Amino acid sequence: MTDFCEVADRVWVARYEWADANVTAIGSERGLVVVDTHGSTAAGRTVIDDLRRLGAGSVTAVVNTHWHWDHSFGNAAFREQDPAVPIHAHEDAARMLAEQGERMKGRFAESEDPHREEVADTELVLPDHTFSSTRSLDLGDRLVELVFPGRGHTDGDLVVVVPDAGVVLGGDLVEESAKPWIGLDSWPLEWHSSLDVVLSLVAPENSVVPGHGVPVDRAFVETQRDDLAVIGETVRRLAAAGVPLDAAVAEGEWPWEADDRIANACRRGYEQLPPGTRSLPLA
Ligand SMILES: [Zn+2]
Repeated sequence: MTDFCEVADRVWVARYEWADANVTAIGSERGLVVVDTHGSTAAGRTVIDDLRRLGAGSVTAVVNTHWHWDHSFGNAAFREQDPAVPIHAHEDAARMLAEQGERMKGRFAESEDPHREEVADTELVLPDHTFSSTRSLDLGDRLVELVFPGRGHTDGDLVVVVPDAGVVLGGDLVEESAKPWIGLDSWPLEWHSSLDVVLSLVAPENSVVPGHGVPVDRAFVETQRDDLAVIGETVRRLAAAGVPLDAAVAEGEWPWEADDRIANACRRGYEQLPPGTRSLPLA
């Protein structure tokens, strides 16, 4: 049992212990928009129970901020409750879930994760309302915007803007309880530019709900953008200087401890750089 706490006018966030994942509910006269569904059908059912206790209306739409398991594997629970409920996501998030979802499920089955059985029992449900750039959800007494700011954490991360509440839901483009996860499906050379687009949607007095952790202010997002820009630029410079990939982590100066995120950033960055820029002659 996890409580939904109101962080702004009719915007409630529940922070679940498993994966430290945030689920957000946006209230309106047309019911609740639920942003992210947690990590399994069973976990999604728990979210629905918690929403029932909140008593702020029934769920009329679901949004997945991106395709990762901790944000989309609860989708089936919402369809169980209402077979017609629309599930919104960026088109590339839906594509990635279709292409990679079963593989991600398989990784759980082989892991020691205590939740592996409920993940194995989870039916993947793909978002059926996709978009490429922006989408407005007209909730009657308020308007909610889904915006694709560019690639970053994954191919298709969206942010949710609730203008009248002064809140932006950042998904995993912004993380508070850990450094942003740079995985092997991330775009470390572009992430900071996407955060510039996000920042253009965040007024100084607004708050940003991250995918993991407590709400942050604009300055926090600026710092995370700067860190990601340093990482992207460092990868680019190392590649241009002809530093081999296996030496790149040790050679770079990073804004954080050189963890798996940094290793992934190097690997992904080297893959993504056009071949001609990987090794420039030293003039
Ligand atoms: Zn996440």
